Amino acid sequence: MIAEKMRPLVQNNSAIRAMFEEGKRLAAIYGAENVFDFSLGNPNVPAPEAVKKAVIDILDEEESTFVHGYMSNAGYEDVRETIADSLNQRFGTSFHMENIIMTVGAASGLNILLKTLLDPGDEVITFAPYFLEYGNYVRNYDGSLVVVPANTVDFQPDLHAFRELIGPKTKAVIINSPNNPTGVIYSEETLTRLGRILEEESKRIGHPIVLLSDEPYRELAYDGAVVPYVTRYYKDTAVCYSYSKSLSLPGERIGYVAIPDEMTEAREVTAAAVIANRVLGSVNAPSLFQRVIKRCIHEKVNVEAYDRNRHLLYESLIGFGFSCVKPEGAFYLFLKSPMEDEKAFCEVCKEHHVLVVPGSSFACAGYVRISYCVSYEQIQRSLPAFKKIAEACGL
Ligand code: PLP
Repeated sequence: MIAEKMRPLVQNNSAIRAMFEEGKRLAAIYGAENVFDFSLGNPNVPAPEAVKKAVIDILDEEESTFVHGYMSNAGYEDVRETIADSLNQRFGTSFHMENIIMTVGAASGLNILLKTLLDPGDEVITFAPYFLEYGNYVRNYDGSLVVVPANTVDFQPDLHAFRELIGPKTKAVIINSPNNPTGVIYSEETLTRLGRILEEESKRIGHPIVLLSDEPYRELAYDGAVVPYVTRYYKDTAVCYSYSKSLSLPGERIGYVAIPDEMTEAREVTAAAVIANRVLGSVNAPSLFQRVIKRCIHEKVNVEAYDRNRHLLYESLIGFGFSCVKPEGAFYLFLKSPMEDEKAFCEVCKEHHVLVVPGSSFACAGYVRISYCVSYEQIQRSLPAFKKIAEACGL
């Protein structure tokens, strides 16, 4: 009965489910406190108190038919204006309400833009390691994802290899910084070079290549690291932002797309993206949480809690002899597998009740992803297990 295009998705889903089931099985045998699950990217830091207050105040103060009603498919005008003003203050951009479309998280933002841009057979380039859903999103619109192999020296994109992969079918490029799974922030130098290549190559192939900046982790940056604002480096950039991590609201499904006026045919692209939002079935982003965003525009989660986790985990793992590029943002650490086959290494970890995700799930074999959006206590309790894993691997 199901479509042929769905079959690989169903098969892949069982692999993820298998990992989830394994965690539950281990917890049932050894007790949840003795199983160290670092596989998921679900924030453990609570949403700011101001979010709860905003929900209550909105329900008390604003009229119910308004709060729960339909609005423009692009979202509430005052919410979009508030976001545009905030971006302009923070990043020196010149957005206005018309540049912002409220979306059902970054995932929906990417889908809206891919639907807006892709004809069947068009190519979208991304850089390994990357969030594997990109392939699924691109295939939703009969495009194909072209992957630039990882630069494992520092996990900045390999821009030489990138240029080689651009061709007449290239329509868009997806980047993600701070990055899932490496925690690396793409530097100003990287973005300057990337922007220059995109300008040159767009001219060469005869149409603009659109840069999609996937930004769920923008606010999670440590040690004062700056996450450069991508529209300032290349005009044909659209930003897919999300409050899933910056306000710990992943289940509420709220984010936005920002399309600057400078983009080629900006008005046409924006109008098409609003229609894509509607015809993909979202219709509009959740109303209540759009209203919450307006009241909580200056809020963010307690980033220090993630930073504490990062320090403890990174310094301990390095101390045990593992190697890893120090994460500057997000809440992931991408550990080099001490065994050639990282899936075998994941099995060794599992024997010590530690669950991590193989790098091949991000198109980067030889590494594993450790999510540190868990309690500080879980990290503390897991350290003897990591030490034993290091010893078992001869470190
Ligand atoms: N992009 C990346 C790199 C992610 O890691 C995630 C979620 O983990 C998403 C997009 C989807 O985010 P959202 O909840 O905003 O749809």
